[in-house]
Amino acid sequence: MHAHRNGQLSFTTRLLTADDDPEDGLSVSPPLHQSVNFAARDEAHLQAISAPLGSEYYTRRGNPTTARLVQVIADLEGGEAGMMFASGMGAIATTLMTFAKGGDHIVGQRNHYIGITEMLDKVLPSFGVEASRVDQTSVEAFERAIRPNTKLIVLESPVNPMMHITDLRAVCALAKARGILTFCDNTFATPINQRPMEHGVDIVMHSATKYIGGHHDLLAGSITASRALTERIWDTSLVTGAIAAPFNAWLALRGIRTLELRVRQHNENGLALAHLLEEHPAVRQVFYPGLPSHPQHALARAQMSGFGGLLTFDLKGGSTAGSAFIRKLRLASFTGSLGGVSSTVMQPAVLFGDRLSKAIVEEQGITPGLIRFAAGIENTGDLLADVERALDGLPTA
Ligand SMILES: *Cc1c(COP(=O)(O)O)cnc(C)c1O
Repeated sequence: MHAHRNGQLSFTTRLLTADDDPEDGLSVSPPLHQSVNFAARDEAHLQAISAPLGSEYYTRRGNPTTARLVQVIADLEGGEAGMMFASGMGAIATTLMTFAKGGDHIVGQRNHYIGITEMLDKVLPSFGVEASRVDQTSVEAFERAIRPNTKLIVLESPVNPMMHITDLRAVCALAKARGILTFCDNTFATPINQRPMEHGVDIVMHSATKYIGGHHDLLAGSITASRALTERIWDTSLVTGAIAAPFNAWLALRGIRTLELRVRQHNENGLALAHLLEEHPAVRQVFYPGLPSHPQHALARAQMSGFGGLLTFDLKGGSTAGSAFIRKLRLASFTGSLGGVSSTVMQPAVLFGDRLSKAIVEEQGITPGLIRFAAGIENTGDLLADVERALDGLPTA
């Protein structure tokens, strides 16, 4: 398979041509290799196809359909190599286990996707790994948390629920000077809006379940890194086994062709909604990095080229108003996930209320009236009208 690294072409053009492979003959759509086993022609061929990464011998070690998706994502992120996992959590768990052993220390953020928070607070400490979580808006907080045994810094920007931004360049510089690896969950931004490797991040992760797949129909996770780091993650993946199913990789290949087109509409809808909500008397506060009122707007502009479809806002009427708002929406599904073509909405306090401790709910800034809205790619006018109608009559004090 040949590499696709034509920096001259736009994202969409690269995404549309990324599937060309002379071995496919006349097939315009990439083939699905729904096979676990791949036969070797002879002993030398067996050696070649069972080598680390991209190997086509047994699907837990590598699969041609999956390898093609890895290459498309690596091209967008500007990375050398990568891997696909069964889910975003499969990617996170396998990578953190690779780079932190008992006695090591990890620095993470105060706010993270809940699965990362639980890895850092519960799972890794049970194997003797220490983890500190710090205020991600403060570069000094990262610096203070670094210890002699710190092996990894885990980043995520923007992050739920307050849409805080982490200064990727500054934190990566701190890490690099001390030989510490950096990992960034880039799910919310997508490689269209933000490419963490350009700011110095070593390992970029996506829940491909979200924007990369983009259609609410597959579960997958990705890692992009140097070949050397990816080989270490691959080694761990052989025993964790959380690798992507070829069919899901094929669906994601289909989804990712329109990534730039979709993200442009997510960006437009996100920004338009944020402006509407900020002006609305039923809304106390809007959290969206694309708003000039966001306390880190300048930093967001410096490291992102668009601000995505995800935003949160606090309703003055609290949780009762939140439930009423969600019931009245016609275009958004009431569900915890995001990143697909259609909008989704949820109340973090309801979703996490009985699962998380009160301390974590407070630490994360989850108030009863907080709504998380993930704008899909609906027509902007239709979406705004639906939200405006659902806000009608909610308490304004
Ligand atoms: C959904 C999500 C994950 C986990 O991904 P799964 O594919 O659901 O395992 C990780 N990080 C972020 C930011 C997410 O939104």
